[in-house]
Amino acid sequence: MFNKILIANRGEIALRIIRAAHELGVGAVAVYSEADRLAPHVLAADEAYCIGPAPSAQSYLRADELIRIARQTGAEAIHPGYGFLSERAPFIRAVREAGLVFIGPSPEAIEAMGDKTEARKRVIAAGVPVVPGTEDALADAAQARRVAAEVGYPVLLKAAAGGGGKGMRVVRGDAEIEGAFEAASREALAAFGDGSVYIEKYLEGPRHIEIQLLADRHGTTLHLGERECSIQRRHQKLIEEAPSAVLTPGQRAAMGATAVAAAKSVGYEGAGTVEFLYRNGEFFFLEMNTRIQVEHPVTELVTGIDLVQWQIRVAAGEALPWTQDGIVFHGHAIECRITSEDPANGFLPSVGRIAMLEVPAGPGVRWDSGIAAGYEVGLSYDPMLAKLIVHAPTRAEAIDRMKRALGELRVVGVDTSVPFHLRVMDEPDFRAARLDIRYLETHEQVLFGTAPDEELLRAAVLGAALIEEETRTRRSVLRAQPSAGQTSGWKNRAEWRSR
Ligand code: ADP
Repeated sequence: MFNKILIANRGEIALRIIRAAHELGVGAVAVYSEADRLAPHVLAADEAYCIGPAPSAQSYLRADELIRIARQTGAEAIHPGYGFLSERAPFIRAVREAGLVFIGPSPEAIEAMGDKTEARKRVIAAGVPVVPGTEDALADAAQARRVAAEVGYPVLLKAAAGGGGKGMRVVRGDAEIEGAFEAASREALAAFGDGSVYIEKYLEGPRHIEIQLLADRHGTTLHLGERECSIQRRHQKLIEEAPSAVLTPGQRAAMGATAVAAAKSVGYEGAGTVEFLYRNGEFFFLEMNTRIQVEHPVTELVTGIDLVQWQIRVAAGEALPWTQDGIVFHGHAIECRITSEDPANGFLPSVGRIAMLEVPAGPGVRWDSGIAAGYEVGLSYDPMLAKLIVHAPTRAEAIDRMKRALGELRVVGVDTSVPFHLRVMDEPDFRAARLDIRYLETHEQVLFGTAPDEELLRAAVLGAALIEEETRTRRSVLRAQPSAGQTSGWKNRAEWRSR
């Protein structure tokens, strides 16, 4: 096992990885931008380095600086978390060239799965069902028209280098196809530096169901069941759960085996996820995410397996100790992503200082967060502040538990998505698990309903009274830390605690 690892990330995932490292007896080196000086992941790490100003390009994306700090501190491995550098093959090559271990898959596996047309070819060869469409990028608008006619409308134009729903266009007829092709290519070029676009059949109202995988370097690849992620807004997941209410054990085994085959087709190692579209008992490969995902805790709760610890253990060369039959599922887990967005105001990002934070607790409740009272939420990073995850024997009980936990959560200082989540938990179709990826388009009332004003107002008044005290406390924490220069000062936890 490693003595020390560097965590090249921030927020809740950095803290999550630090916790896993500490439970394994591994030291954790954090990095932080100037905007994150008081972030919980900085305080939780054993050592922390400031790597630059708030913009990611000048801090969390500075590959050379991250590698330099890892070597300087004696860290043997780098955990990338998700986002940032987690799926950048050149970074992984640089990490390896520096004699360090990258906690994740090989750069070749990432490249094969990162290009959607290449990924389709690989998994088709491994016998994995994909949505009907093209395997190669389209040459021009005229070819797009010919292929769309063959596949049959509606079709979806997709960026080969795509991610985050960018460069995607639904096309319902011949009249729109050429314009949509030009627009998707332009958008893909601007977003990914690669304008390649291909065609898939557009499925009406499928579910998004994904399979969690764990693979070691000794030939074992296991699936850890599925997550239902159909509650999405603009292709961004907001609520995830495990298991999916629609899969039979037979379908779960079939999807799991298919996901394992997809991972093996690229020699995958570590934790990864294969995403599928599911409709009427049929499922189709969508893409593979070659990293730990935001929604991994729901799988951890139903399997009892710590995915982040196993990422580290597999990277250190350990073998997975289970067979597929040894993976058993207990109960039901739900995750709500708590974002600093105002659902009453079109999900506009909300910024400000967190004046007060009261976190839910009690049976079956898990809080994975990157914030604390006093933390300043800005616009430099993703608006996800935290994840609230619950576990209960049944889905109905998990929903009731989530309502209870959401009701205990108080965040004062920024608007959050909490009122939205509360409305979903009460919505009859959600409660009956009647879901598909259009859920939020067909249930607009849960998106834009009004907040439970009186309660929020009460919390706001209480919060205002606490602002001054919180600020004073955070200032004293600040004073207790030796001043951290841009790349120089690194602090020792024991040192600042003893002051
Ligand atoms: P990205 O990598 O940009 O996130 P994905 O291929 O993962 O793109 O697709 C994102 C979302 O778009 C999916 O979760 C699903 O909601 C929708 N989607 C993708 N492909 C199709 C399809 N062929 N038919 C219907 N919906 C689709």
